[in-house]
Amino acid sequence: MPAIATNDKTYTSCKAASWPSYSLGQELKPQAPDRELRQMLSEVDPKRIEANIRKLVSFGTRHTLSTQTDPKRGIGAARDWIASEMSKYAEKSGGRMTVTVPSMIQPVASRVPFPVKLSNVLATIKGSEEPERVYVITGHYDSRVTDVLDYESDAPGANDDASGTALVIELARILSTRQPKATIILGAVAGEEQGLLGSAFLAQSLKNSSTNVEGMLNNDIVGSSTGDRGQRDPFTVRLFAQGPPLTESAPVTARRLQIGGENDSPARELGRFAVEVAANEATQMNIAMIYRLDRFLRGGDHSSFLAAGFPAIRFTEPNENFNHQHQDLRTVNGTVFGDLIEFVDFDFTARVGRVNLATLWSLANAPGMVKNVTVDTSTLGNDSKLDWVVDERVGDYEVVWRSTISPFWTNVIRVGKVGSVTLPLSKDNVIFGVRAVGKNGYRSPAVLPFPA
Ligand SMILES: [Zn+2]
Repeated sequence: MPAIATNDKTYTSCKAASWPSYSLGQELKPQAPDRELRQMLSEVDPKRIEANIRKLVSFGTRHTLSTQTDPKRGIGAARDWIASEMSKYAEKSGGRMTVTVPSMIQPVASRVPFPVKLSNVLATIKGSEEPERVYVITGHYDSRVTDVLDYESDAPGANDDASGTALVIELARILSTRQPKATIILGAVAGEEQGLLGSAFLAQSLKNSSTNVEGMLNNDIVGSSTGDRGQRDPFTVRLFAQGPPLTESAPVTARRLQIGGENDSPARELGRFAVEVAANEATQMNIAMIYRLDRFLRGGDHSSFLAAGFPAIRFTEPNENFNHQHQDLRTVNGTVFGDLIEFVDFDFTARVGRVNLATLWSLANAPGMVKNVTVDTSTLGNDSKLDWVVDERVGDYEVVWRSTISPFWTNVIRVGKVGSVTLPLSKDNVIFGVRAVGKNGYRSPAVLPFPA
């Protein structure tokens, strides 16, 4: 089956979104990966991802409440193995990458009947130019069966979420040999199945230290493209992105609604960014962006980051088979239940890894999001005046826009290294965004202007 990346070809062609027409600027073309990024994408190895998943499955169960002292079985052994793998890469990184295992004692909670030590495994690559700007990627390494409190039965969790964890470990290997401009944290988090506990611990720690997290990518259930009706979609990954942030103040939310900005949350701008830089022939993937926090009845670790006020999105396979998630291992009338490795497609997970790598690398080498972006609404008029704060490190600025009913940015105009521009295009009819262009050509995610 040919891999066809359709996002870039249908990017601006939505006919319903073609008004108003104008001669200003250009049609927006997605940012193509440069030679260095293409090289990195080619290094994502399905065989290594398979080996990582096999190893994670070999611990029998990785339930958060399982043993932490057995050297071969349980979440403690899994934690130690992940830390040792990442440490191997860190040793060869020339000091760029460090590995830590922050832990806490999780008190009794609704899915935690006794206090338990909870550990995340984090590999941090310090940025060379803006180390204070941070991007986070996670998979969760804990697993479960039907009963969320059953911590003794075998819970292979091959897809949920050894796939996401294996992808993160593989990206740590590749990124350990590179030098991004901003900082990247690659995390294997625990306690997801017991209530997003490990990711909440990580997100709150970053919030408490006032860390500037400009994007978080959650990879949870990225191991298969085949659904329960046998439907296959091996070249598509879903991207879930929430609308208005729950952490905004009531006046800001009211203003957002007033200006039609409900579809331009930081999470959705992050999602649009990922579609622009990572759906292409180099990743061989389409990205199906879904304007929703998550699937019905399900949650994920990006929610912990959204709750801390950070832009966060979730990648998940296109078609799920619920017989292979959260299930006791059994066969009933010929139907196999259980999250077994035989249902994982390692090539698919590798492609999802490339989508994440393209997104992360493009974020970490672009300028940060533009600050204090405003639109002048002090007088009536058919021009639009936008203002923002100039960062001396940035090469240039661009204004992007689209029809209010278009999903992606469709038009762009380069405006130079300025902090203000007036365009002959009515703010009443389009949605504007402002983004920075680095001296290397990398572009930041766009920022929606609010009235000054
Ligand atoms: Zn999961």
